[in-house]
Amino acid sequence: MTVKCRVCGRTVEVARWSKEYERLKATDHPAYVCDSCQQRIRTDAQNQQPH
Ligand SMILES: [Zn+2]
Repeated sequence: MTVKCRVCGRTVEVARWSKEYERLKATDHPAYVCDSCQQRIRTDAQNQQPH
């Protein structure tokens, strides 16, 4: 199954045996974010925290 990253629009193949597939399968309109975008979002969130 292929899913589209909602951040960068990249199409990513998700293996059927992966946990990600199970999670995406459970919703009608899965909001998938690819690994690199997830990492960037995490980094951005950390940068937004007050120092
Ligand atoms: Zn992405």
